[in-house]
Amino acid sequence: MKPTDNDADLRALFTRPGFRTWKDKVASVHGCAAPIKLRGSSIITHKATGKVLKDTVGSVWVPCGTRREKLCPTCAAWYADDAFHLIRSGLDGDTAKGISPDVAERPRWFATLTPPSFGPVHSRVVGAGGRLKRPCSCGEWHSEHDTRLGTAIDPDAYDYEAAVLWQAHAGKLWHRFTIALRRHLAHAAGMRVAEFRDAARLSYAKVAEYQRRGLVHFHAAIRLDGPEGAATRAPAWATKELLADAIRAAAEHTVITVARSTGEVLELRFGAQLDLRDITTEAGGSGEINDEADIRSSRLASYIAKYATKSTGAHDGPDRKLRSIEDIDRLSVSAHHKAMMRTAWELGGLPAYEELHLRRWAHMLGFRGHFLTKSRAWSTTLGELRNIRARFRLAETLAALEVAEDDVLVVNDWEAVGFGHDTDAEREYAAAIAEALLERKLNRDNKRGQDR
Ligand SMILES: [Zn+2]
Ligand SMILES: [Zn+2]
Repeated sequence: MKPTDNDADLRALFTRPGFRTWKDKVASVHGCAAPIKLRGSSIITHKATGKVLKDTVGSVWVPCGTRREKLCPTCAAWYADDAFHLIRSGLDGDTAKGISPDVAERPRWFATLTPPSFGPVHSRVVGAGGRLKRPCSCGEWHSEHDTRLGTAIDPDAYDYEAAVLWQAHAGKLWHRFTIALRRHLAHAAGMRVAEFRDAARLSYAKVAEYQRRGLVHFHAAIRLDGPEGAATRAPAWATKELLADAIRAAAEHTVITVARSTGEVLELRFGAQLDLRDITTEAGGSGEINDEADIRSSRLASYIAKYATKSTGAHDGPDRKLRSIEDIDRLSVSAHHKAMMRTAWELGGLPAYEELHLRRWAHMLGFRGHFLTKSRAWSTTLGELRNIRARFRLAETLAALEVAEDDVLVVNDWEAVGFGHDTDAEREYAAAIAEALLERKLNRDNKRGQDR
């Protein structure tokens, strides 16, 4: 068989000088598709004697670190895996990261807060067993793959302005909800908010997910601890039922008042549909996340992690900012999503909405919040997980030098000199390394999970 160009390119890559060094660099960024290439130096000096123990001059690569699957599937997979551990350790504990398994005993719920309706959209009303209960309000029985699902039945009557303004305030609405939740909890316990802070601590991890209609809803694991967070037991009055009631009341009463482009008052709140589900640690809740009354913590963690790497959920939606309103016409997204982008672009041109930076976020249909957020006391942070990895690498170097970290001074001086891979053969080879390393990481994590 005649080798293809591709094979020839790959062979040229394997045999070129410096291939081994290149390969090690690719592995050092776990096969990132768009690594940042740095040149500079790193000097490790012994503090007491001033002796230079290691002087690295040359080039180092750093992974792009994106969470967006479309931009770099490798870094997105690592991000999702980190996110999984971050959520999971707050649900089940992780002694290796200093989070007590007691967190599983605390009052906690999995809550879904949805946007309200801005007009009827094509939908499927599914009952038990996945069968359609009734036709869409347009009269049709839509198939699961119908591209009209989630789009406005009557675009002229759909309140795009309110939808975009809601979306632009969604992050703020969530923030207000958490404040209201503390207030409701304090009230239920018969204390003032200031006293509540000394008695208990509210923790959460939440993810924003785009619905088909182009609006985000929030999934959140919400937990109540003692005043010191994960390390302390919640007070006796803090029952699961009390937490559930407070979540419902807070979701219902959270409101932000803004002005429409006409000056008319618009109240932004969550939709009446609030979904609260129990979180179990062991068996139970093993089915689809959509139809179980309770949900297993490991499943919940992977669900949240998966959504953290998605973008708008609009098929082939843009991942980059729009430069002009004409950009919108060229996109291959539904007329409904385009209408949201156009509305965001137009409102973004009005001085009244300047602070919302709507044009900058038009490609995200107005949402400018974070996809994955958590309160400080929930568990570890993504930054800490990365630090652990970086420290691990440093620890290896120091072990080889036979010195302790406290005894040395590390000075790094790097400058970016390039981005990404240069040829298709390089990209292909990096992707293969990425796959192998990710598999190894996931196997290791699984094994660790079983040992626990
Ligand atoms: Zn990357
Ligand atoms: Zn319909």
